[in-house]
Amino acid sequence: FRKIQPSAKELVEGILDENITALSRAITLVESTNVNHLAKANEVINACLPYANKSVRIGITGVPGVGKSTFIEAFGKYLTGLGKKVAVLAVDPSSTISHGSILGDKTRMEELVKDKNAFIRPSASGETLGGVARKTRETITLCEAAGFDTIIIETVGVGQSETAVHSMVDFFLLLKISGAGDELQGIKRGIMEMADAIVINKADGDNIKRANLAKLEFNRALHLFPAKKSGWTPTTAACSAITHEGISNVWETIQKFLELTKGNNYFFTKRKEQNQYWMLETINEQLKSNFYNHPEIIELIEKNKKAVQNDELSPFAAAVSLLEKYFKK
Ligand code: GDP
Repeated sequence: FRKIQPSAKELVEGILDENITALSRAITLVESTNVNHLAKANEVINACLPYANKSVRIGITGVPGVGKSTFIEAFGKYLTGLGKKVAVLAVDPSSTISHGSILGDKTRMEELVKDKNAFIRPSASGETLGGVARKTRETITLCEAAGFDTIIIETVGVGQSETAVHSMVDFFLLLKISGAGDELQGIKRGIMEMADAIVINKADGDNIKRANLAKLEFNRALHLFPAKKSGWTPTTAACSAITHEGISNVWETIQKFLELTKGNNYFFTKRKEQNQYWMLETINEQLKSNFYNHPEIIELIEKNKKAVQNDELSPFAAAVSLLEKYFKK
């Protein structure tokens, strides 16, 4: 793979051979914004599809500082210790703005990065969250084809990123820390509703008691939500990513979840629904970016904006004239 441009076939062979260089190069190809790479990227993904899918996909969200990377390092090491092959990917909304990625930064997971059964890939940078999320979705397929059986997707609990991650994982874990009695403040109802488990991190030292109280409080709050389609009752737990107390417990919970949802078929139905979602989502995203990047549209948008501002055109008429122009172009 030192060749500058391996063919799609060579990449696929490398991936199926569990060659990490081939996997990395294929991900770079998928992440490329060069339109000339699109056909080759699609060829690689399609060829990998029959070998994908045999994994568990775990989403992990939490605000900066709760200990996501420390937790993923401890959890990831625990899993590779069990003989699992773990891929860590990230959806980072800040990287779409700053073009730098924070999540999945290799230097933040020093131990895991050295583990030959782990693969860490920082968040793709891109223009839209939708675009970044779609690339991560495709990267999952490539990692699975390369033999990774546990996929961890990290995201920061801000904006819409956790919704995107929720739509590509089987199990969604919300990481929290205990605060000063205000555990439930400042978390969006929607995020709690998506969680299959809430794990209170940093339950060590003087913090153990508070973490256990927070756990009870979250447990009460979770019971107020309607029952989940999966039939699963979300759980709460406390752990320490530093002492590793409670880390194995998180994996046991995920095992129970898989047993239940594979037994009642929800696991498989949800994956099918997610595939359909990503098909439609890709159409939305591409239509939007194509529309807004079209030179004639860029020009007309400015014109129509002014017209709307000056009450010369209704917002509706202004939008319709733009759409008509685009679809007749
Ligand atoms: P992230 O921003 O959510 O990825 O958080 P980090 O993993 O970077 O952790 C933020 C800070 O919390 C770091 O200083 C960690 O050492 C610390 N930290 C993470 N997990 C724990 C834990 O379980 N216990 C304690 N005491 N500190 C932790």
